[in-house]
Amino acid sequence: MLIYNTYIVLGDFMLSEEEFSLLFYGDPSKYKPFSKEEDTSLTINNEVCASCKGVCCKMCGCHFSPDDFTDLSFNGLKNELDLGHISIDVVFGEQFYLDRNNLILRMRNKDRNVYDPITSRRDTECSLLTETGCLLPYEERPSGGRLLVPNLTHNCRTNYGISDCSKEWGYFQKVLTELSAHYREFESTHQIENQLVKKLTKRKLQK
Ligand code: SF4
Ligand code: SF4
Repeated sequence: MLIYNTYIVLGDFMLSEEEFSLLFYGDPSKYKPFSKEEDTSLTINNEVCASCKGVCCKMCGCHFSPDDFTDLSFNGLKNELDLGHISIDVVFGEQFYLDRNNLILRMRNKDRNVYDPITSRRDTECSLLTETGCLLPYEERPSGGRLLVPNLTHNCRTNYGISDCSKEWGYFQKVLTELSAHYREFESTHQIENQLVKKLTKRKLQK
């Protein structure tokens, strides 16, 4: 890739910064939500879910679709992330036969940061899981949780898998990239501040 004045040269193509951005980060105006069959007579089965005590929720927080949000602008999503229950994750394309990695939003796992790329969706419990199940009522859960169809083997199928989620968020990579940069900087500054406070406290106690 070459940058020539304000143009970007890709092979035989010369693109303006805006064209490059839409190509690289996706064009939100082209987003059309996937049809998601939600048959609550199948997706709600409290008895079966109670018997397994949330196997799926113990693996990872469930994923959102962009249509779970009413405001997909930077500030709209930041307001949601600041409530403390959502993380930005990466879906690695090669794990799901997709041609690219995409940032997505999902429920935050226990003791994890806002920016939390995980390589395995099998090892960290959702922060909203309690002894008595999910803290959220069914209709407020992310699409990835709502569209699971519980079954007795607890190997539950879904009408909205992680690759669908990655494809949908593909149109919103610019805003998610900006949000990741914002929180990564905030979290590393916060971590450094915490370390300094710990050092100062230790020094004070030693005096
Ligand atoms: S959806 Fe399936 S894995 Fe998740 S709690 Fe219900 S039965 Fe268990
Ligand atoms: S939000 Fe609720 S349904 Fe989704 S993973 Fe967390 S505890 Fe489970």
